[in-house]
Amino acid sequence: MFNAYEFFNRINEVGPKIRLDVGQPDIPVRREVIEETVNSLRRGETGYTSTNGIRELREAIAEVEGVSPEEVIIGPGAKLLIAAEIAMANRIAVVAPHWNAYLLIARQFGKEVEVFPTSLEEDWIPDLKGTEADLIILNYPNNPTGRVLPRKNLREIVEIAEDTGAKILSDEIYAELSFVEFTPVRDLYEKTVTVKGFSKLFSMTGFRLGYAIADPQEVSRIRRFIESTVTCVPIFVQRAGIKALELREELMGSIRKEYQRRAKLASRLLSGLDFRKPEGAFYVFLRVPYDGLAFAERLLLRGVSVFPGVAFGDYPNFVRISLSGSGLEEGLRIIRDEVKCALESRVMEKWEGSSSGVSAGK
Ligand code: PLP
Repeated sequence: MFNAYEFFNRINEVGPKIRLDVGQPDIPVRREVIEETVNSLRRGETGYTSTNGIRELREAIAEVEGVSPEEVIIGPGAKLLIAAEIAMANRIAVVAPHWNAYLLIARQFGKEVEVFPTSLEEDWIPDLKGTEADLIILNYPNNPTGRVLPRKNLREIVEIAEDTGAKILSDEIYAELSFVEFTPVRDLYEKTVTVKGFSKLFSMTGFRLGYAIADPQEVSRIRRFIESTVTCVPIFVQRAGIKALELREELMGSIRKEYQRRAKLASRLLSGLDFRKPEGAFYVFLRVPYDGLAFAERLLLRGVSVFPGVAFGDYPNFVRISLSGSGLEEGLRIIRDEVKCALESRVMEKWEGSSSGVSAGK
């Protein structure tokens, strides 16, 4: 399996000017959030706290999500909550292309994995018929394709889950960054565990703050995983989360608009190339004319970093462009130029090949 972290380290060593590789938002964390964190520490909130999260934060989340606080559990980032669910499953189903962590975690816990590939030609719509997994992982808006699955397609997946009795883990970390109508999976299916976090909309990646929404029994199961691993999320981080939620409405407007602007910019600058316009999140999954890893390496030499498609499954001719990095416009122009150059040289090779073929036949 391709090691995305090794490639990430290589990018850091080369130190390109334009970083379009990681899903680290370049929009700074709001000052109020930082201040609240520091104030909490100054108040002496430095000890252990409840293992399912402080009541005030669970209440604040419950209010924005329209659920009860008993259905909410706080974790140190969405990733660990996803790990909790994978640890409890026997066999997981993952739709490809996918965020690489699902498989890394599954491997860590020795779980069986079914991968359901989707394609650009089929609009990245999955078909999960035949799954024997007890946990189906969905992620919309999707990393890396930017796809938001229409309600109708979600319903089809839910029907399959209903038949097999599988639980759905819906990774909705990018839900607030959807540019089209978004349906939370839990609206369609009771046996859903929704995982969300503060890393993307609020840019709070390093705070390590996420939450899950599930029925109270499932919440207890996740709580036991947290108790047996990390104990709890620091109180000052949770206080930061409460402050962030106070800014949610405002940020949802401005940050979503900003990413939508970038998605439009990317669609315009890359128009004519092979990709589906993002409907959410902040990525473009682009087909390139030759091996994606070689393409990413070549781009690196031109001062632009992207991730090769193999970091997201069996997609050797793709790269993922993150729209959350620095120097986006210039980077997109360089990427377009690289694709066009490769296509032109391919045409030249063909032309030279055929003209030499003609002369050889004379
Ligand atoms: N889920 C997806 C699909 C992601 O792309 C990411 C981060 O890139 C995460 C979860 C991680 O979230 P967190 O920082 O809350 O662990």
